[in-house]
Amino acid sequence: MNTPLRKSNHPFILTKIESHLDGVIRRSNGGLLAKCPGHDDKNQSLAVGVGMKGQVIFKCFAGCTVDEIVGAMGLTISDLYPDNSPSYEKQTRSGFSAWQLLNALEKDLLVVLIAINRYLIEGERPCQSDVDYLTEVCKRINEALQYLEGRK
Ligand SMILES: [Zn+2]
Repeated sequence: MNTPLRKSNHPFILTKIESHLDGVIRRSNGGLLAKCPGHDDKNQSLAVGVGMKGQVIFKCFAGCTVDEIVGAMGLTISDLYPDNSPSYEKQTRSGFSAWQLLNALEKDLLVVLIAINRYLIEGERPCQSDVDYLTEVCKRINEALQYLEGRK
């Protein structure tokens, strides 16, 4: 067993989210499975985890977007972030230089390098939480690029 690229070290925020979800199953990796509030879910098709900034990450295997899921829970995206930690999105809104964006992505890029080494060079099989996390990383990098596009 390889160690996940991301450790869930903010379980408290999941406890907060858990009370808004039905059919919660706690996973051994610290994440949750639950019935997705975004669609009529018969099984637990929503995976819930914690991101690098301590924020809650959702993945609905039926394809609901984070906005749909959060809206159905009666919450907003900012509820997914820890109260006292500045989130990447909050910082983006108040203005971010290209240098600051690169700094914010530094950890993500490091994780991508580790993943390339582990999965492409050493040939290990990625576990689902790593696939989820890398998907999240790609989204963040893409968002950063779009943000810089929009400022030109
Ligand atoms: Zn869903």
